[in-house]
Amino acid sequence: MLRVGSGWDIHRLTENRPLILGGVEIPYSKGCLGHSDGDALLHAITDALLGAAGFEDIGALFPDTDPKYKDADSSVLLKEVYRKLQDAGFEIINIDCTVIIESPKLGSYKDLIKEKIAGTLGIKKETIAVKAKTAEKMLGELGTNDAVIAQSTVLIQQSTLS
Ligand code: MG
Repeated sequence: MLRVGSGWDIHRLTENRPLILGGVEIPYSKGCLGHSDGDALLHAITDALLGAAGFEDIGALFPDTDPKYKDADSSVLLKEVYRKLQDAGFEIINIDCTVIIESPKLGSYKDLIKEKIAGTLGIKKETIAVKAKTAEKMLGELGTNDAVIAQSTVLIQQSTLS
C-alpha cells in the first residue's frame, strides 16, 4: 500500500546559532532558533514521514518542553522516526522537499544535504530531491531573512507482509 505525507516547518533565524539544514552545518552569520538544533528541513521531513504513516506529529513525539530534546540533533530524531515506520513495515519510496530562505544561497549545498539525509535514513540519494527558493523579499520575516521555512512531501509503501 502506498501512502503520501506532507510536512512543514518554520524557524526564526537569529545570530549566534549555527545554521543546520538537512543535517548539514552551513557557514553563515545566523542560524535557526529552536529548542532542538532547529533543523527546519529535517523537521519537515520527519513530520511528512509521520503523517504518511498516520502517526502522531513531531511535536507530540518530541515535545519542546522536554529538556531531553534541548539542542537535540534532528538527524537522530529523524532516524528514530524512520525506525518506527520500518517497524510498522513502511519503507520510503521518495522524498521531495523545498527550503525557502532569503540568504545564504543553498545551491552549492543541495548535493551534500541529499547525501546527509540519505545516510541518516539508509536510503539512496537519488530518492531525495532538495530544492532551494527565496521569498523574493516578500512574506514578512521570510523576506527580511529572519526566518526559514521548509516543506516536504514523502511517499512510503507498506509491505503486505506486515
Ligand atoms: Mg522545527
